[in-house]
Amino acid sequence: MASPVHLTFLGGLGEIGRNCAALESEGRIVLLDCGQLFPDDLPGVDAVLPDFTWLLERADRIEGCVVTHAHEDHIGGLPYLLRSLAGEGVSMPIYGAPFTLGMIRGKLKSAGLPLPDLVELGDHARLPVGPFDCEFLPVTHSTPSGLMTVFGTSQGRILHSSDFKLDPTPIDGRVTDLDRLRALADSDGIRLLLADSTNAGIAGSSTSEATIGPVLRQIFADHEGRRIIVGAFSSHIHRIQQVVDAAAETGRTVVVLGPSMVRNVTLARELGLLRISDRMLATDDQLDDLDPATTCVVCTGSQGEPRAALQRMADGSHRFLNAGDQDTVVFSSHPIPGNEAAVSRLHNALARQGVQLVHSGQLGVHTTGHGKADELLALHEAADPDLFIPVHGEYAHLVAHHDLALGRGMSEGQVMRCTDGDRVSLKDAGLVRAGRVSDEYVMVDESGRQVSETLVEERRAMSGEGFVFVRVVVDGRKGRLVGTPVVESRGWVEPDDRNAWHRDVAEAVTEAVSSAVGDGQREPRELERLTRRATGRLVSRRTGRRPALVPTIEVR
Ligand SMILES: [Zn+2]
Ligand SMILES: [Zn+2]
Repeated sequence: MASPVHLTFLGGLGEIGRNCAALESEGRIVLLDCGQLFPDDLPGVDAVLPDFTWLLERADRIEGCVVTHAHEDHIGGLPYLLRSLAGEGVSMPIYGAPFTLGMIRGKLKSAGLPLPDLVELGDHARLPVGPFDCEFLPVTHSTPSGLMTVFGTSQGRILHSSDFKLDPTPIDGRVTDLDRLRALADSDGIRLLLADSTNAGIAGSSTSEATIGPVLRQIFADHEGRRIIVGAFSSHIHRIQQVVDAAAETGRTVVVLGPSMVRNVTLARELGLLRISDRMLATDDQLDDLDPATTCVVCTGSQGEPRAALQRMADGSHRFLNAGDQDTVVFSSHPIPGNEAAVSRLHNALARQGVQLVHSGQLGVHTTGHGKADELLALHEAADPDLFIPVHGEYAHLVAHHDLALGRGMSEGQVMRCTDGDRVSLKDAGLVRAGRVSDEYVMVDESGRQVSETLVEERRAMSGEGFVFVRVVVDGRKGRLVGTPVVESRGWVEPDDRNAWHRDVAEAVTEAVSSAVGDGQREPRELERLTRRATGRLVSRRTGRRPALVPTIEVR
């Protein structure tokens, strides 16, 4: 009997974000990605992470982390995990492609963290990682150098697809290597497949990244004589390449704006992944001297991010560029779910400045990096796995991928539907559920400090309904209130009406608390409860609102 391999899903199975899994054999653990989730509507929260508690309890057994590509949902958790591991006196090597490691290096440096061992992986590299004999194969995605991983284990091969699409004509010619998967399938086979589910529910195939170039060239031709500003994801180097190529063909100078865009363009040029001649490039402080008609700006902010370049141009707060009626702004990305409203506000703000807009709703200026149903089926065909677990997706995506596998002919016994926190064991007999670990959303602020659920709830209540503060002082000896309760509020009623409302609250509280105090009640908790109840009743009867109530009691 071969020893089992355990898989623990810490995140990414139930949301797009915080992808993180642990593979474990004979007590040794290899992590697969360590991402974050961008919080949607969590006040004061900058990142949502997996709960690393389970990992930290086993810190001395971690052999390293394989990172599949440079997107935040795969690398964004690393600074937090490495900091926590350092607290346990542990470091771990990180394995990834040079571009991925370059992004991680920048991230760790700006977080002020020491660099762990960074082990570069080339396409088709084969090396042991912890107890596993790993092989890394190229995949096409919306950031360069994506790698799928074949983990050679005591239970056969485990294949992790990484985020991928099947693009027959990728910009760098680097296609997803299904041929190698077929060869592996033919020799000893693939035991377990873990594959990207993001677009499992969408029929057909994604369009090639190469279709974007001609659309961009047409836009450049149609908007001749105007400055062209293209907003794109800063990690989407192949998109940036196509923008740069269109600019070069029309004799435009390129200016790169936004710190992450500048950083990634520099890194990609250093690694030979992005071709721009020095002659074509100008810096932001030269914008004033450049003829708009022969300028192309590539910048961040196409998701409506409040502090990014496009937003600053729209509200006139950019140091070097104010967008106006000489400008065409191209949004070369779709709004990520949750960002639609922000993007639409940005469109309006730019339109108000006189800018002409081009976005993916009008023209094919964006394509996805995630394979759709037909591409996923092609992966399943090539790998022909014995067993399958859908990963990387919201729950509905995982279900769609599960159904896709059944449709291809796998049986219910071969496909296991897992979600965040699930732990499964791969044994001779197949996949067996092996309990649960925490699937909690760990929320952190910009400084990396954890933000509790209670704090977020309080912020939410205050931002939605305001707060009412009541301070009651009791003279314990004389059995009466000292003065009138002090009432303050914000965000509850109109400022002009406040004083009158506060008086009414003070009266209601005096009435409720005085009689209890007169009857001998001195217990602050009970007096606080009475104050809260009296305030709450008046507040909801009069205004129908539910502001946060903040009673404080002092018994002298
Ligand atoms: Zn990705
Ligand atoms: Zn991803």
